[in-house]
Amino acid sequence: MVQSVFSNVASRYDLMNDAMSLYTHRLWKDDFVRHSLDPGRRGPLNVLDVAGGTGDIALRILDHAREKYADRETTVTMVDLNPEMLQEGRTRFKKTMYHNTPQIDFVVANAQELPEDTFPSDSADLYTIAFGIRNCTSIPDVLKSAYRVLKPGGVFACLEFSIPINPLFRRVYDDYSFSIIPLLGTILAGDRESYQYLVESIRKFPTQPEFAQMIRDAGFTTGEDKDGKGGAWRGLFGGIASIHTGVKV
Ligand code: SAM
Repeated sequence: MVQSVFSNVASRYDLMNDAMSLYTHRLWKDDFVRHSLDPGRRGPLNVLDVAGGTGDIALRILDHAREKYADRETTVTMVDLNPEMLQEGRTRFKKTMYHNTPQIDFVVANAQELPEDTFPSDSADLYTIAFGIRNCTSIPDVLKSAYRVLKPGGVFACLEFSIPINPLFRRVYDDYSFSIIPLLGTILAGDRESYQYLVESIRKFPTQPEFAQMIRDAGFTTGEDKDGKGGAWRGLFGGIASIHTGVKV
């Protein structure tokens, strides 16, 4: 079902993201990339951007490495289960300076079982997954796979929708997401059901403390739970989205 949702939305995915989030997803993604790349950075990185979709995170990582660190050696492998989403990413990269360089690669694979021959154990410095883990059937399997492929000291970084903390804000946000987003899906993409699914999948995702515990259960160390103010996770925009990080011991 997830496959068909993303096949349906692939060609309109970027337009819909801008429309649904009123462009704020761009700021969250910028923040996510800075947050994942900057702390304690040591030299060029081998990055896996899983559930990479149309390449928003991969492109930001390469741009940030180049602009901030004059680094043209960091590599990103974009991984996605859906070939159509990945194809959108491939087409987008053709217009960039990274096209046909060893800095970017595309692999169709399932985040829950990254094949060992393509993704060896202890090989990645950074594993990013943005707005993708809630679409996976088994979160523990994704985390287990992430743990395996990361080097000791490697970082798992996840950007995902979450539930706002303030009850009043939560109410406004609920009204917006349950009524406006499926409506935008109908008008802009002619597809109400896919966007209805995307909204519902946000509600079903574990709370921030639950997800932080799942990350620890997979073997990662995280900061303490500080209600989204740093530590195990950081809330964005009153908790509409959160960045969780964990380090492989
Ligand atoms: N990371 C991109 C971004 O932030 O714009 C794309 C996010 S998009 C909402 C979610 C992506 O997760 C889709 O491209 C979908 O195909 C992919 N996906 C869903 N389940 C997956 C799985 N089990 N393994 C790998 N990718 C998956």
